[in-house]
Amino acid sequence: MSLDDLYRETILDHYGHPRNKGVLEPADATREGVNPLCGDELRVAVRVRDGIVEDVRFDGKGCSISQASASMMTEMVKGKRVEEVAGLIAAFKTMMRGGEMPPEGLGDLEALQGVRKFPVRVKCATLVWITLEMALADVKHET
Ligand code: ZN
Repeated sequence: MSLDDLYRETILDHYGHPRNKGVLEPADATREGVNPLCGDELRVAVRVRDGIVEDVRFDGKGCSISQASASMMTEMVKGKRVEEVAGLIAAFKTMMRGGEMPPEGLGDLEALQGVRKFPVRVKCATLVWITLEMALADVKHET
């Protein structure tokens, strides 16, 4: 199996079986993100306790890339410290811009590298991360 096939399988697996999809109750912050170029609409809800992302859920509709990226995001950030998540958001954006990958890699997220060639798809992949960033900023203001 080629790397492209593996990437495609990872994306389709997350798209077909999204992790942490649904409503988060109670949530500390909820934000909505829209990518009008594609029609993706996502909602990200977070709950933060003692500086750790205790729980995160996403909901909404969109293309396979936006949904798979959202599913991967929830798996990656759940249980991590808010500062670590900020680093992850930055690393993901850098990867999608064609920049260097962190030495430890980005796990399943690396499957999204293939969409860098398509600017519209890059917006699909980053939408949930930008929405998460906004939600986490809201939480900080409350504490
Ligand atoms: Zn899309």
